[in-house]
This record gives sequence, C-alpha cells and structure tokens, in this order.
Amino acid sequence: MSELELTDITKSYGKTRALDGVSLRVRDGEFFTLVGPSGCGKTTTLRTVAGFESSDAGEVRIGGQSVADVPPEDRDIGVVFQNYALFPHMTVAENVAYGLRFRDPPGGVSRDERVSELLSLVDLDGFEEREPDELSGGQRQRIALARALAPGPDLLLLDEPMSALDARLRKSLRRQLQTIQSDLGVTTLYVTHDQNEALAISDRLAVMNGGRIEQVGSPRDVYRRP
Ligand code: ADP
Ligand code: ADP
Repeated sequence: MSELELTDITKSYGKTRALDGVSLRVRDGEFFTLVGPSGCGKTTTLRTVAGFESSDAGEVRIGGQSVADVPPEDRDIGVVFQNYALFPHMTVAENVAYGLRFRDPPGGVSRDERVSELLSLVDLDGFEEREPDELSGGQRQRIALARALAPGPDLLLLDEPMSALDARLRKSLRRQLQTIQSDLGVTTLYVTHDQNEALAISDRLAVMNGGRIEQVGSPRDVYRRP
C-alpha cells in the first residue's frame, strides 16, 4: 500500500512562500506528474516528500503513515534528481549497489544478482564494470533510475530526470520509464516544467503555479481546460 497524500503543505524560505497550501493525493501505483513553470514549487514539494526538507505546516503520508515518524533510512523512497549525479569514482555496479546501502535486496537474491536484474531492467545488461564517465547522459540517467529502484521502493520521485537530454533521447527514455513504471506498479511522482512531457507520460497530473495546485486531472481533462 503506497498511496501518497499531502495535506495543506506550506513552506517559506525567508520571505519567499515556496509552497502555499499544497494538497494532493497520488493513488497506489499511479504515475502522477507535477507540472508548472520554474520557481512554482515543484522541487520543494518533492524534497518535502523525500524528507530532505521539512515543511512549516501540513503533513505528508505514505501508505497512510506520516513521514515525520519514519527516519530517512527507513523510508521506502527512490529518488532521481536532475543533478543527482552518479559517483564518478565508482563503477556502474557499485553505483547501483549504493541503492541497497540501507536494506537487503528484495526477493532473497544476492546484491550482485539484484544489480544485474536492475541493469537488465534499464536495458544496460553487462554494464557492471563500466565507469560513469564512459556513459552517455541517457545511460547515466538509466543507471540513476536503477539505483533508485534497487531496494524495491514503494514510491519513486523523479525531478526533471530528462531535462539535460536532447529531444530524441528524451522520447526514448520517456517510453522506457513508462514501461518500467507500469511493469513494477511503483507509485511515481514526476516533476517537469514541460507540459507536453507531462501530458505524454502521466496517468494524472497537477498543474502548479505560485506554490499552489491549480488543476488536477487526467491528461485529457487538463488538456481540455488549458
Ligand atoms: P521549481 O522546482 O518549480 O522550479 P522550487 O521548488 O525550486 O521551484 O522553488 C520554489 C520557490 O522557492 C522559488 O521562488 C525558489 O527560488 C525558492 N527556493 C527554493 N529553494 C530555496 C532555498 N533553498 N532557499 C531559498 N529559496 C528557495
Ligand atoms: P529546479 O531545477 O527544480 O528549478 P533549482 O535548480 O532551481 O531546481 O534548485 C536547485 C537547488 O537549489 C534546490 O535544492 C533548491 O532548493 C535550491 N534553490 C532553489 N532556489 C534557491 C534560492 N533562491 N536560494 C537558494 N537555494 C535555492
């Protein structure tokens, strides 16, 4: 059970009100996108869900449990951030295995087996001993995704994971991400400023502006009310 629920989250940085009463419910297994212009509060929302940031008021619940009650290492959350780079001095296998530092691999397999499973999932079989700087941007982001998924998280948080990639690569990675997400059924909160991307990838999306949620619906609902 991994429904995500945000209730009336507020957060200010000095005089800047980054989040001004954000409430959201992401259903179990859903691919949900936050879309809106730069500075509207998307990253702050994600960082609050991840527990990297504490809100001034409001509550985040994952699977019915308040995140405030769960220490960071016990949270079943995988994150891929735009700038969440791989460790350059570690091999691909070591980077993916880093995702398992707080827990054993699910399904009773060994760490090595889990790393291979994940590399296969992101279509990078046999990349174990490669170094991050030998890889393309798209390959690196797939390794970052493998690392985030390694422990079998209930919730996946993705912040502009494709923004550094060119349009063609974005499209193929988007398709791959959709397939992986729906195969695993992992509840996913995705952040982008790109409306077309949001419409193409989401089960449902929320349009954010000025620290508030303006609209929530399926791509079709939102597209009809531009
Ligand atoms: P988005 O991800 O939609 O671009 P952010 O959540 O990063 O928006 O930022 C929302 C607002 O909060 C912006 O005005 C931004 O400048 C401000 N902000 C975000 N993080 C910080 C911070 N650490 N210190 C000060 N202001 C911040
Ligand atoms: P995004 O690409 O989502 O808009 P940014 O690149 O704006 O994110 O922000 C990257 C990091 O800098 C985040 O951790 C955010 O909290 C922080 N940040 C954003 N705006 C400010 C700000 N005005 N002052 C200080 N830190 C900020």
